[in-house]
Amino acid sequence: MPIIAATQDAIRRAGEAVARGDIVAFPTETVYGLGANALDAHAIAKIFAAKARPRFNPLIVHVLGLEEAQGYAVVNATAQKLAGAFWPGPLSLVLPRRAPSAIPDLVSAGLDTIALRAPQHPVARALLAAAKVPIAAPSANRAGRISPTSAAHVEAELGDRPAMILDGGPCPLGLESTVVGVTGDEVILLRTGALPRERIEAILGRRLAKAKPDGRIASPGQLKSHYAPSTPLRLNAKAPRAGEALLAFGPDAPEFDGPMINLSPRGDLAEAAVNFFAALRSLDAAGAHAIAVMPIPDHGLGEAINDRLRRAAAAADAEPPLAAGAHS
Ligand code: AMP
Ligand code: MG
Repeated sequence: MPIIAATQDAIRRAGEAVARGDIVAFPTETVYGLGANALDAHAIAKIFAAKARPRFNPLIVHVLGLEEAQGYAVVNATAQKLAGAFWPGPLSLVLPRRAPSAIPDLVSAGLDTIALRAPQHPVARALLAAAKVPIAAPSANRAGRISPTSAAHVEAELGDRPAMILDGGPCPLGLESTVVGVTGDEVILLRTGALPRERIEAILGRRLAKAKPDGRIASPGQLKSHYAPSTPLRLNAKAPRAGEALLAFGPDAPEFDGPMINLSPRGDLAEAAVNFFAALRSLDAAGAHAIAVMPIPDHGLGEAINDRLRRAAAAADAEPPLAAGAHS
């Protein structure tokens, strides 16, 4: 069984495994990542194979901080301001790649940009320090499926494909990082996530532009179907119907005999974010014919939760597996 407690010794061994080209799952403050040496194209290919992920989906490269990021990307003043405010933390910056670059094209799927993030989780940071290389890491789930927020979720998704699964307990934030693209002065929200849009806007002193859903894949994380449970979702449900499971939110949740999880009985969006993926996973396994989802306020972290819910709901009428799996 590849799950192992994230002791100093285990992290050291995981760092060595990454450095020699193995793939290792590890906790971050957002979700569990499936990491590989970002300088090693063969190691990167193992990530795509383990996730059954189509190659055009670019990966986020994890680094210890701004200085390291500057080795791989052109970090302009606007990007430095954002990194200064939010790194280490749940913000990924999509920036122009340095050319030539030590990071193979496969990592950024041939794009001339690269996504970089400095994670805050102590296990992720210790692993980066131990590996002594940048670590490319998508979420440690099979392509198109629910992101893992515990080591057990990773094992359920990937079995023994990772050489190790470092267990650092449940993820403290529970949603993927917020992804923004920075081109010159322009900052575009490519994916909502664990850093609320409002906090970025407060630093920039203006509203964030949103990626246009014009069919062009500005960021593959924007694809319509993603984060898919097997059970269909019914969004904005006021009350559950017979045979459904209920994903509730807030103090006004109805009484219900069936399978039910309240993301936050006191109506707290941060608490709901932490519980979200685990709740979806657990209700998906409850044998209901649908999951009724109560409305969730669309501000702060609610924007990211609603984005995930819409795409989980879209999975039911998604394309066949390969195309539908194009988003992991
Ligand atoms: P995940 O692999 O689940 O951590 O998701 C990574 C996210 O970062 C996806 O939404 C990708 O589309 C996005 N991303 C990574 N690199 C780039 C890039 N160069 N340009 C645009 N989006 C990117
Ligand atoms: Mg993912």
